[in-house]
Amino acid sequence: MIGLAFCFNPLLIAQANAENGNNESQKQSVTFANPAAQQFRIHGLSRFTGEQKDVLRQWLKEGVKATRQTLGDYPRRLELYVYPKPSDQPVPWAHTRRDAQESIHFYVDTRFALHDFISDWTIYHELAHLAIPYVGEQYAWFSEGFASYMQYQIMEADKLLSEPVKQLYHNKIAPHLSRFNIRESAASIATKLMEKRNFPAAYWGGSWYFVMADQQLQNQHNMRLTELIALYQQAGREQDKNIQEVVKSLDALINDSLFSDLLYRFEHGPAQELYPSQFN
Ligand SMILES: [Zn+2]
Repeated sequence: MIGLAFCFNPLLIAQANAENGNNESQKQSVTFANPAAQQFRIHGLSRFTGEQKDVLRQWLKEGVKATRQTLGDYPRRLELYVYPKPSDQPVPWAHTRRDAQESIHFYVDTRFALHDFISDWTIYHELAHLAIPYVGEQYAWFSEGFASYMQYQIMEADKLLSEPVKQLYHNKIAPHLSRFNIRESAASIATKLMEKRNFPAAYWGGSWYFVMADQQLQNQHNMRLTELIALYQQAGREQDKNIQEVVKSLDALINDSLFSDLLYRFEHGPAQELYPSQFN
C-alpha cells in the first residue's frame, strides 16, 4: 500500500488550519484518569457518536501505548486531534503541527473497525515524528525518513505486522534505490524528490539514514536505534532546536560521532557510496 497519510510542511498546515477555522476549544478535550493515558489528550471527540468515540479513544490509547513501549515516554503530553473524513481507509490523512504546542491531527473514517485502525501505520508514523524536534523544512527528508523507519519498528514490537519487518523495508525502499545511484548527495536527491511531491521516494530514500544508523549502532554499540531514541526523549529532545543539536545529542549518548558523521555523508558525500544498488 502506498501511504496516503503524508505529512506536510508545518507552515502550510498552519495556514490550512487557520483557513478551516480549526481552533479547538479546551472544553472538547478528554483526559483519562488512567496514569498511562495522561501522556495524551484527545480533542474533537464531540463530532462523533458514543460508539465512534469509544473506537477512537481505544485506538489512540493503544497507539500511544505501543509507541511508548518502543520509543519511550514522551517528555510532554501528546495533543491528539480527530476529525471525521469519509474515505476508503481508516486514516486517510494525518499531520503533525510543530508550533509551541506540538500536536497531531488525524482525519478518520469511523466506519472502519477498531482493528483496522490499530493495524494502520499512520498513528505510529505521526507519533514517531514527535520523538525528535522539528528540524526544519530543509531536513524534511530526515524527519520523514525517521518517522517512516520507526513506524514499522513500533508495529513490529507490538506484533502488528503481517510480514517480517525486513521484508516491508525491502518493499518500500528497493523501488527507489536507483534514484540514489548517482554522485549527487542523498540529502539533495531526497529534497528534490520532496519538492516534486514524490513522497514515497523521498520518505523511504530518507529512511536509509536510519537503516544505516541502526545497523552501525547494533554493530558498534550493541544497541538498537529504538533504545537510543527512548534515552534521547529524556535527554535532549526538549532542548534541541535544530538537526545539528539532535545529532550531537544522539552522539553524546553513545560517546561517538556516528550520527554527525552519517549526516555529513548524507549531505556532502555521493549518494551512490551510501545506497546499495540492490536491497539485501
Ligand atoms: Zn510524516
